[in-house]
Formats: sequence, C-alpha cells, structure tokens
Amino acid sequence: MPRNKKKGETAVKARVNESCIGCGLCVSTCPQVFEMTDEGIARAVEGELSAEVAGAALDAQAGCPVNAIEIA
Ligand code: SF4
Repeated sequence: MPRNKKKGETAVKARVNESCIGCGLCVSTCPQVFEMTDEGIARAVEGELSAEVAGAALDAQAGCPVNAIEIA
C-alpha cells in the first residue's frame, strides 16, 4: 500500500555513489542538496527531496561528469 506523502515532498532521494571525483559541480548547481565532505567528495542530504529542490537536484545529476548522482 502506498504511503502518504507529506505535502511538498517528492518521495525521491538523492545519493552520491563511489564514482564521485569531487569536482564540486553538483554543489554549485544545487547547494540545497549537495555538499562537499572533508574527504573531498560530494554527499547528498538525507531524506526525501522537497519539490522545491528536486528540479535543481536533477540538473545536478545531469551535469555530473561521471554519473555519480543517483536520484530515485
Ligand atoms: S558533480 Fe558528480 S563528480 Fe562532481 S562532486 Fe558532484 S557527484 Fe561528485
């Protein structure tokens, strides 16, 4: 049974996988979702993306040079 979504949530989450080379592009494109870690790679916020940031997160995914961003 599908769970109820909270208003403004999209039920999708972002994840940065091990292919990340730390170029920083996603952080520039969508700082609401992505940040650089002390290890010099990107990470995504925990939890479901809000509708406001989902579009920018998809733009960041499209711009990632190594396809390290998973949004599902
Ligand atoms: S754009 Fe891709 S490679 Fe660059 S920091 Fe973000 S996830 Fe890593």
